[in-house]
Amino acid sequence: MLIQALSDANLALQALQEKVVGSAQAEIFRAHQELLDDPALLEQTRDLLDQGKSAAFAWNSATEATARLFQGLGNALLAERAADLADVGQRVLKLILGVQDSAWDLPEQAILIAEQLTPSQTASLDTRKVLGFVTVGGGATSHVAILARALGLPAICGVPAQVLELVNGKQVLLDADKGELHLNPDLAEIEQLQATRQQQVLRRQREVEQASLPATTRDGHHIEVTANVASLQEVEQALSLGGEGVGLLRSEFLYLDRNRAPSPEEQAGTYSAIARALGPQRNLVVRTLDVGGDKPLAYVPMDAETNPFLGLRGIRLCLERPELLREQFRAILASAGFARLHIMLPMVSLLSELRLARQILEEEALALGLTQLPKLGIMIEVPSAALMADLFAPEVDFFSIGTNDLTQYTLAMDRDHPRLASQADSFHPAVLRLIATTVKAAHAHGKWVGVCGALASEALAVPVLIGLGVDELSVSVPLIPTIKATVRELDLADCQSIARQVLGLEEAAQVREALRVYHAATVETSLVVEN
Ligand code: PEP
Ligand code: MG
Repeated sequence: MLIQALSDANLALQALQEKVVGSAQAEIFRAHQELLDDPALLEQTRDLLDQGKSAAFAWNSATEATARLFQGLGNALLAERAADLADVGQRVLKLILGVQDSAWDLPEQAILIAEQLTPSQTASLDTRKVLGFVTVGGGATSHVAILARALGLPAICGVPAQVLELVNGKQVLLDADKGELHLNPDLAEIEQLQATRQQQVLRRQREVEQASLPATTRDGHHIEVTANVASLQEVEQALSLGGEGVGLLRSEFLYLDRNRAPSPEEQAGTYSAIARALGPQRNLVVRTLDVGGDKPLAYVPMDAETNPFLGLRGIRLCLERPELLREQFRAILASAGFARLHIMLPMVSLLSELRLARQILEEEALALGLTQLPKLGIMIEVPSAALMADLFAPEVDFFSIGTNDLTQYTLAMDRDHPRLASQADSFHPAVLRLIATTVKAAHAHGKWVGVCGALASEALAVPVLIGLGVDELSVSVPLIPTIKATVRELDLADCQSIARQVLGLEEAAQVREALRVYHAATVETSLVVEN
């Protein structure tokens, strides 16, 4: 009975993946499929079956115990895995018990309010009826939030539990851009939000239609817009949305849900398939494993640390375990020639780290008989690297600025802290000044600079990044058309002047406000020009 239920669940998850192929959702359901195979979970279930327990009891106890274990480790990513496991657990349990999932009978134009939604529930929402949802659980980085973004559904997660007391059928207004739920909206507010939404839909349509046009400012300055990806499917999706290459392949996400390390052949196969999909004219920037901090990797066990974000992370961990880095370099090098290969080191804070890693790369390339080394660059996500960019620049081929970590290390604010989320803002002038320092140093040595942190995916930030001289924006896949369209509305000279202005401001809120004013003026001007 259990084997049949596991196999049926596997088929259902396969079907769900095929429905959303190439998206973040597909990755989540693939991870769910892997949980069905988890050896520790199956062993616990088998032990209980051997003790004479029923299949339903054994499966349910094993999944609940494992989810509790994940939850108790105080790590956001593992807590997320606990939510996934609960979801898979319920799916299999219903199959064992023969319980049919009754579809929710939702009215038209519904705003769904729930304590928590599972990824499966979110993915199966009827987007013709549901306009958006609000949950008490979850946060901006939860899988449910990722799914909402992929479905284009407005959503706010992590709201106070009182929201559950609202009566069914009450009229509410969800303004997800501002993170607000209005409980007594008047007609004028409703009409205004509807008009804004309609405009957004039309704008999105236009952006997607024009996605293959280059991202060139009005005065002819080209910005390369590439994609942040974590799978081959995302690469294919990025190309279909006008992505000009891959600016960040987060290699640690390729095998996040594995309990065993992928074989060298499998790794080489993955990188080569991605490089082939891009072709010899496009950049592929593969970031070496960035494990540690908030990103544990099951097959790279690590000692517990008091301050994981300040501990063995990224290149530090790889240099402590050079075999891991050597094996990854070999696998990446196997894809040389299929795309314009770039290798990027994460979390570099010392010159010695770069030099050591380069030496290992050169040894591996030599052993493989390669005459030409791929380009080697570093992430700029630690203030020491930004401040010393003039010394790093002669020794690298490029920089890519990771604004997510650069912000947390510059402002000393945990990037996932729920109470600091609004202050840990990459628009802070201190972060922008470090970007300016980096670009100046790189250009003085003829090297290019990208931004691959989330700041690059914010349309509001595009003028300042261009004005500071950034050459490439590597953005989350669905936003490629938006960022390209934004670049096409701008003038380089104006961007340089707004960049100079915001560097002198005091705080992130002031920078955002200045950019909003600038944006409103630019959009008005471009409307006049188009007419
Ligand atoms: C960053 O820190 O901005 C970045 C791109 O790396 P990650 O988000 O994977 O840490
Ligand atoms: Mg980072």
